[in-house]
Amino acid sequence: MPHGTVQTPAFMPVGTQGSVKATLHRDLEQAGAQIILGNTYHLYLRPGDQLIARRGGLHRFIGWPHPILTDSGGYQVFSLAGRRKIDEQGAEFRSHLDGSLHRLSPESAVDIQARLGSDIAMVLDECLAYPASRDETAQSMERSVRWAARCRAHFRQVLDAGAAADVAVMNLGQAQFGIVQGGVFQDLRDQSADATIAIGFEGYAIGGLSVGEPIDLMYSVVSDTVRRLPEDQPRYLMGAGTPEDLVECVARGIDMFDCVLPTRNARNGQLFTSEGRINIKNARYAEDDGPIDPACGCYTCRTHSRAYLRHLYLAGEMTAGSLNTLHNLTFYLDTMRRIREAITLRTFDKFRQEFLRSASRLSPNS
Ligand SMILES: [Zn+2]
Repeated sequence: MPHGTVQTPAFMPVGTQGSVKATLHRDLEQAGAQIILGNTYHLYLRPGDQLIARRGGLHRFIGWPHPILTDSGGYQVFSLAGRRKIDEQGAEFRSHLDGSLHRLSPESAVDIQARLGSDIAMVLDECLAYPASRDETAQSMERSVRWAARCRAHFRQVLDAGAAADVAVMNLGQAQFGIVQGGVFQDLRDQSADATIAIGFEGYAIGGLSVGEPIDLMYSVVSDTVRRLPEDQPRYLMGAGTPEDLVECVARGIDMFDCVLPTRNARNGQLFTSEGRINIKNARYAEDDGPIDPACGCYTCRTHSRAYLRHLYLAGEMTAGSLNTLHNLTFYLDTMRRIREAITLRTFDKFRQEFLRSASRLSPNS
C-alpha cells in the first residue's frame, strides 16, 4: 500500500477518532500494528474531513505514517436509531454531538474518504440489525449492491481526475473494498458476493456478521462466503472478533480483521491471556504479584503485577486504561504474528488446536 506493507493475516486496531483509545502510536508500532482503522463518521463530524485534508490528510494529521483503512461511516449512521432516515439516495442523520442534520450517500462516503486519504476506503453499505427477515435482508442486500456500483463509479471518477477533481484527493494510491452482505442467508450472500465481484474492487469484505448471531452460524457463513471471493485479493471480516474467532476465521480464509474488543474490554478491566480471559477487578488478584500473562512480553507484563493493575483500575487511574490496552493489543497482534509464522512453517493446524485448548483453560469469569 502507499504507506507500507501489511503482512496478512492482519489485525487492525480501531482508531475511531484518529487515535486508538488510551494508546500512543509509538506503543502501537512496538506492539506490531501495521495498519489501523479510522472511523469516517466520527472524523467527518469532528474535526471534519475538510480540515484534515487541509492538514495534508489523515496520516499526516494524526502522525501515523503506516497504512490506514477507513470505514464508510455507514455502520455508525445506521446505529443512530431514531436519528436517521434511509432511502435509495443514502442516509439523512442527526449528529450525536450537536443534533445538526447531515446526509451520507455512496458518493459522499467516497469523497470524505478521498479527503482523509486512507490507504483502503470502504464502500457505503446498508447494515441491518440481527435478526432480520429474509425479505428485509434481500432488499437491503440489493440496495447495498446498487450503492457499491455507485461508490465504485464515483471512486474511479474522483481518483482518475486526481488534482483536477472537485474533491481534494489526499492519496492517489487509495484502494477501495466492496462489502458482501446478505445476513445469515447463504443464497443471498452468494448473490451479493457475485454481484460485488462483478463490479470489481481491490479487496472484499464480509459485513453484517458478529452482530449477535450464534457463533457457529457466523463461522458457517464465513466458510461458505469466503469460497466465492477471489483468493488473490484480500478478504476482510468486519468487526470480528475474539482471539478464538481470529484463529477460526483465518482457518476459513480470512486475511484481515478489526474489532474494538481488545481496546474496549481493556478499559473495562477484561484482559486476554494465553490461558483465557481474566478480570483484573476480581479480589483474587489483590495480592497477586505475577504479570497479567507470563507468556507476554509487553511493557505492562514486563513491568507491573496483577495486584498493581487491579489497584490502578479500582482507583480510576488513567494509566489503568493505557496499560491494559497495551497488553490486550499486544496479545491480539502477537496472536496474528504467531498465526503468520505457523502458516509459513505449515504448522497452522497444530497451532489452531493448541490455541483453542489453552484459550478455554480459564472460565469466562476468572
Ligand atoms: Zn502483556
